[in-house]
Amino acid sequence: MREITYREIEAKGALNRVQGMPFEWSLNPYVGCAHACSYCFARAYNARYRERDVGEAFDRNIEVRTNFVERLRRELQRRPEGSVAIGTATDPYQPIEGKYRLTRGCLEALADFPMPTSIITKGPLVVRDIELLQRLDAKADLTVYFSVPCVDEDIVRKTDPGTAPPRQRLRALRMLRDAGIDAAVLCMPVLPGITDSEESLNRAAKAASEAGATAFRHRPLKIDREIRDYYI
Ligand code: SF4
Repeated sequence: MREITYREIEAKGALNRVQGMPFEWSLNPYVGCAHACSYCFARAYNARYRERDVGEAFDRNIEVRTNFVERLRRELQRRPEGSVAIGTATDPYQPIEGKYRLTRGCLEALADFPMPTSIITKGPLVVRDIELLQRLDAKADLTVYFSVPCVDEDIVRKTDPGTAPPRQRLRALRMLRDAGIDAAVLCMPVLPGITDSEESLNRAAKAASEAGATAFRHRPLKIDREIRDYYI
């Protein structure tokens, strides 16, 4: 078992302005991610902007922004323009969300002050919030993206060691689709020599389609210099 420590911190703000992305704002109630994917680009962010180790400091020392929802509510009252993506630098449904419910708090705030929203996750825990997602969906555009880089469970155990198996993610996707929520698959990143065969991509696309995904997108691996040695 991997031992993970959690530290409570105060966030200075919640909505983070982003540029060059298909959304204007991002929301990340946690810092670091227990899902521990070896290729995670957010490891490089951790090193570049927070001067932290790209390995255990990212995936075994998680920070919890306990005042995040309160900050978000204050910011949403000012009616920011644009759309928001939840979970761009950490998984909003990583296991500790079961205790702190910060992602749920963010969705409640967005349901009160709606803006177009997307969620990116590998966490089946998202099904806990189906009714809330329906409430938000009735007021604003909402898409839940499930990250499923491949469906080979032996590979996933090595590359995404802290995550739920792909079949559980796809089962969660099916539940969201059955509840009328737009849910798609991001088959990203495609790992050279590991998941880039036609067979691997076809299997992932077929599984996504069978689960009811409304879209299937893929993109090759991009390795920032900070995590080059770690990934190799
Ligand atoms: S689930 Fe996402 S944020 Fe978490 S380690 Fe994996 S790629 Fe990074």
